[in-house]
Formats: sequence, structure tokens, C-alpha cells
Amino acid sequence: MAYAYDDQNIFAKILRGEIPNTTVLETDHSLAFRDLHPQAPVHVLVIPKGPYVCYDHFAQMASDAEILDYTRAIGRVCAMEGVAGDGFRMIANAGANGVQEVPHLHVHILAGRPLGRMLQRA
Ligand code: AMP
Repeated sequence: MAYAYDDQNIFAKILRGEIPNTTVLETDHSLAFRDLHPQAPVHVLVIPKGPYVCYDHFAQMASDAEILDYTRAIGRVCAMEGVAGDGFRMIANAGANGVQEVPHLHVHILAGRPLGRMLQRA
């Protein structure tokens, strides 16, 4: 599977500083910022700085340093946002069936209210 990265996607523009964001955490290889249209009291997006379309692309192609940094960044955001006590959900949509809107890998971290069942029938 070849992954074609579009560097005009909105998160690439955020990474280049062309669009503002509300940063929660920045590390060497990752950026976490608040979702523009939050669907829960806590709704943070965590992205790698590298040009990866989706999670499977990242998991196959990223360096060990990027994967370590990204995984630790997600852990740090969870701790900073205090999501462990009442629980939370992480979502990484991919492609058309996954209804991925922005083609740059992002994990959603959602918390702060009961989130319902994982999936609804379409
Ligand atoms: P997905 O459907 O998984 O691709 O989710 C894309 C997410 O990006 C949505 O939750 C949007 O609200 C969010 N989003 C789009 N543009 C921005 C932006 N400029 N800053 C922060 N979040 C954004």
C-alpha cells in the first residue's frame, strides 16, 4: 500500500505555523492541540510532526524515535488532561470507511462525559 501525503492538509498547515492552534503539548516529533469543534469537555488531537497519512502508515514507516516520542506524548496529554480517573476514548480514523476528514495522522483523546458505545450502526 502506497500512502500519498498531501502537504496542503490543514494539520500540515498548523505544523508550518500557517494556521493557529491551541497547543497542549509540543515535543521533538509530536504536537497536541485542542480540537476546533470539541465533542466532549476534553477533546485533544495528537499528531506526529512527520508526513504520515494515518496510523498504519506511521506504524509501518516512522522511526523508532518518532514512535517513542508520539506514544509518550499521548501518555503525557492523558496525564495533563486528567483523563484516567473517569475514563476516556482514543480514536484514530483512517480513510474513507473510517471517515477520516484530515489526511494527517491524528489521535483524538476524548473525555469528561460518558461517551456512549464505541460504534453506532450507519
Ligand atoms: P477526523 O474526522 O478524524 O479526520 O477528525 C478531524 C478533526 O479535526 C475534527 O474533529 C475537526 O473538528 C478537527 N479540526 C479541523 N480543523 C481543525 C483546526 N484548524 N484546528 C483544530 N482542529 C481541527
